[in-house]
Amino acid sequence: MREHDPENEYHPLGLDASTREGLWRQVIQEIEGYLTRLDDHRVAPRGKVDAVFERIDAVSFDHPMEPAEAVKWVADGLWKHQMQTPHPRYFGLFNPTPTTMGIAADAMVAAFNPQLASFSHSPFAVAIERHVIGQIASKFGQDPHATRGSFTSGGAEANHTALLTAMVRRFPEIREAGLRALPKGPVLYVSGEAHHSFLKASRLSGLGTGAVREAPVDDALRLDVLALEKQIAKDRRDGFEPFMLAATAGTTGAGIVDPLPQLADLAMASGLWFHVDAAWGGAAALVPELRSVLDGIERADSITFDAHKWLSVPMGAGIYLTRHPGVLHDTFAVATGYMPRPSDDDRQADPYAHSMQWSRRFIGLKAFLSLAVAGWDGYARALRQQVAMGDRLRERLTERGWNVINRTRLPVVCFTPPGGSLDQMRAIFKQVESDGKAWVSLVRLRGEELALRACVTSYRTSSRDIDILVDTLENARTTHPQG
Ligand SMILES: *Cc1c(COP(=O)(O)O)cnc(C)c1O
Repeated sequence: MREHDPENEYHPLGLDASTREGLWRQVIQEIEGYLTRLDDHRVAPRGKVDAVFERIDAVSFDHPMEPAEAVKWVADGLWKHQMQTPHPRYFGLFNPTPTTMGIAADAMVAAFNPQLASFSHSPFAVAIERHVIGQIASKFGQDPHATRGSFTSGGAEANHTALLTAMVRRFPEIREAGLRALPKGPVLYVSGEAHHSFLKASRLSGLGTGAVREAPVDDALRLDVLALEKQIAKDRRDGFEPFMLAATAGTTGAGIVDPLPQLADLAMASGLWFHVDAAWGGAAALVPELRSVLDGIERADSITFDAHKWLSVPMGAGIYLTRHPGVLHDTFAVATGYMPRPSDDDRQADPYAHSMQWSRRFIGLKAFLSLAVAGWDGYARALRQQVAMGDRLRERLTERGWNVINRTRLPVVCFTPPGGSLDQMRAIFKQVESDGKAWVSLVRLRGEELALRACVTSYRTSSRDIDILVDTLENARTTHPQG
């Protein structure tokens, strides 16, 4: 009789050793095939969404698939039915080509599945995240030893965390009594070009979207400091309680950096928590000749930085940083009998007591391994190349008579055809998309002005890719002349 060998017994969840081996090979082939063949593939998907629903509705869990068949089916679906954001000619919102080390990190994290809720369950992983946070903080000119922070699902959760920490710092009574304990309505300030996650955070935290004051911007789309000062004074007179100012370093739409030093002064003089949303622009801190665009960020009470934007790690990997060591604990800590007692050693703080999530994935590994392998210098070179591609695009478009309407050193270009109407712009956008060689987005600036927008989001974008984009745009413009 054969001895019972659990290794080779097929389990519906764990499968068996030889099936696994074949499966890993197949997954790696699919990944490598995607990375090497993507450049020749169209960027925007073609076809009707009905086809997507049909494909998926056809799957029934009453009839299990073979593992190999399932992987093939998924790869096929993703090739056909997604915007190919890792493509070197995807020029949309900041969704990068993921770093190779980031892909490897995510696979390892899935397999080892460390639980980062508590320090004691995963000291190695928690310490790695803490290390990355300290290193990033020092790039922003903050003291890595005094900085606390957490990895988040993305910039939206980091901005939400900023809002909550600012509120708890200013109104500690709400921790227990809630917002109804406050005699006056709290308000916060962002620019009209800020990310809409602040509206969502404000609603979710019980303040309501009405608490978000969108201050006007100047001609360069930067938050207008004088107008903001007046607005703060008016709100005070009207019986509101201003508590937070969130500046943006690299707006989502046009890559604009608000005047951080003046805003830091104003926040300090007005007793407001100063937050800087540097979700994608913050990476400029890694390029010595670009670092000055972020001057003033070192004075921030808190910072949002997304590793899954310009550091190009796979989604989702946001970071919230603060230079106030106790505030995360004050905002998030609760005690329960089923979690370990908190340690006196601050380095061993439990992430669940310092952030919104409870069970949590080891998000920081993809940033850590990407940084460890590329080094600061490797990143500086990659980012510099993307900035150069942005500059090339700006020049080429200007040479051909397009109007570039945003001024930034970051690689995002907002542009309109000469004398172009809204209809022409929409027609150009549609044609570029259906052509499939590249993808750009449409953006509304100042809440109304429509423009085409191309952001260099891939570290693989080359001069040739820029030239193909410009040819595609020119072609679309000729097909849809101003009419
Ligand atoms: C992308 C972005 C966000 C939101 O980040 P997510 O990672 O998508 O949650 C916030 N602020 C700015 C400036 C951004 O560009």
